[in-house]
Amino acid sequence: MDDEFDVIVIGGGGAGLAAAVSAAEDGASVLLFESERELGGSTQLSAGLFTAAGTSVQRALGIEDSAEKFFQHYMDLNQWVLRPGLVHTFCEQAAPTLEWLIGLGVEIPAVESGNAHQPGLARAGVEDVWRAHVPKDQGYGLVQALDRARRTHGVDVVLNTRVEELLVAGGRVAGVVADGIEMRGGAVVVASGGFAQDPTFVDRYFPAARAAGESLFVVAAPGSRGDHLRFGAGVGAALAGHGWGLLMPTVYFQRYHHWQSGFPPASRLYVNQEGRRFMDEDAPYAVSTGILDRQGGYGWMIFDEKARVGLPAGYTDWTPDRVAEEVAAGRTACAATWDELAAAIAVPAPALKASVDRWNAQLPAGADDDFRRHLSLAAKHSDTHLEPITEGPFYAAKILPAELVCTHTGLEIDSNTAVLDATGRPVPGLFAAGEAGGGVLGLRYVGGGNAVANALTMGRIAGRAAAAESHSRTKAQGN
Ligand SMILES: Cc1cc2nc3c(=O)[nH]c(=O)nc-3n(C[C@H](O)[C@H](O)[C@H](O)COP(=O)(O)OP(=O)(O)OC[C@H]3O[C@@H](n4cnc5c(N)ncnc54)[C@H](O)[C@@H]3O)c2cc1C
Repeated sequence: MDDEFDVIVIGGGGAGLAAAVSAAEDGASVLLFESERELGGSTQLSAGLFTAAGTSVQRALGIEDSAEKFFQHYMDLNQWVLRPGLVHTFCEQAAPTLEWLIGLGVEIPAVESGNAHQPGLARAGVEDVWRAHVPKDQGYGLVQALDRARRTHGVDVVLNTRVEELLVAGGRVAGVVADGIEMRGGAVVVASGGFAQDPTFVDRYFPAARAAGESLFVVAAPGSRGDHLRFGAGVGAALAGHGWGLLMPTVYFQRYHHWQSGFPPASRLYVNQEGRRFMDEDAPYAVSTGILDRQGGYGWMIFDEKARVGLPAGYTDWTPDRVAEEVAAGRTACAATWDELAAAIAVPAPALKASVDRWNAQLPAGADDDFRRHLSLAAKHSDTHLEPITEGPFYAAKILPAELVCTHTGLEIDSNTAVLDATGRPVPGLFAAGEAGGGVLGLRYVGGGNAVANALTMGRIAGRAAAAESHSRTKAQGN
């Protein structure tokens, strides 16, 4: 039976849209299924930070960089447990993908950006050169540009339709089943995102997230139900990335991503269960969760009354009233003296007092000899002189890795995004990208923006690869 489309794409987030557009650019007829009422997935919710090396934006700012440097950094941060060939392809293709996006209308001004919300080039904190590209209108801007391109190419989209299973015929993936209807395609790209919204999969593939207990909250898009794992199980696909994902440290009462929740006071310090300060409070995501893990999984965020009343209104979690509510409920410790606060959180009072004294001696003067936080503040274009923590009452709220952003266990892919089976051979007709494709996202988030870069870069490769496979199959059939 003839294929109805050359390429069928499952999922209309970053990876799926990039795959659909690149397949269409290569002359393929493409159909894209999206389970939700609108396109975008987690990509649309994201800040859109895109890590890439050797880009026109970097060059315009006089930054010398290369895919080789990026590769070395990426592998080192991930302790070389990822497959170098795959990661090398990613690092090499990230910059051309960024240029492709700019060509499709994504705007990334060649200016230094102070944070994930200011378009330009930002520093995430763990890299040797600035690589975090922040697009105008963030993840939404990326999705809009790709959606315009897919309309230009006449790519059909079926919204509100969750693909149920892969269609297998003649020893290959030959299409999909959605709404009980079979749709045949020359090749299929799985780009259905991660599994953060499925507690059973989180337990199985990212159990570290469970350590947050009641404090765990998920910011990934609702469609992140792990359908790639179900599809993969049906065709014997191997998995990569077991046990990894991105958890961000937050106080126990936060329930939303910081856009909604607001930000904790700048004048805050974190102490461990011994009452000792243990980290740069603005440490990058790539390392902050690991640092907390080493302290028994949590620490205490310490701030004073001046910091609490200075919080701006209008957010859901970080407001003066919300903190007061948590205190009234007995969940955030509050005390008139450091001795009482130390007793309330069961840390040694002399250590807590020494930590606060040292912080007050250094940070208000704009220097942090111990943890070098002034560098993180400067990179964010924030004032490096922080208010002293001296005005009681004093507060202590538990901080722990509790915000689940994305998951990394995906269908194992090769450098061409072909899905591999347990023997390491490609499953004919099947490609995967984004969080659904495993092997690029590792144990460390490589800041800033390796998840968006992964989705769009590997998605673009997947679209081309699927189009090529479909065309060669059509040729072989003599059609
Ligand atoms: C709040 C937030 C901020 C973030 N900020 C950044 C950042 O700045 N930089 C960075 O690198 N990373 C960031 N991330 C992570 C990053 O956005 C994601 O890892 C990445 O965008 C995932 O892209 P994707 O295409 O794999 O998945 P998604 O964008 O989630 O797309 C998957 C799509 O598939 C659909 N789908 C699922 N199952 C089916 C099915 N069976 N049939 C049809 N459709 C289906 C979903 O509804 C969804 O639309 C952030 C994530 C969040 C949630």
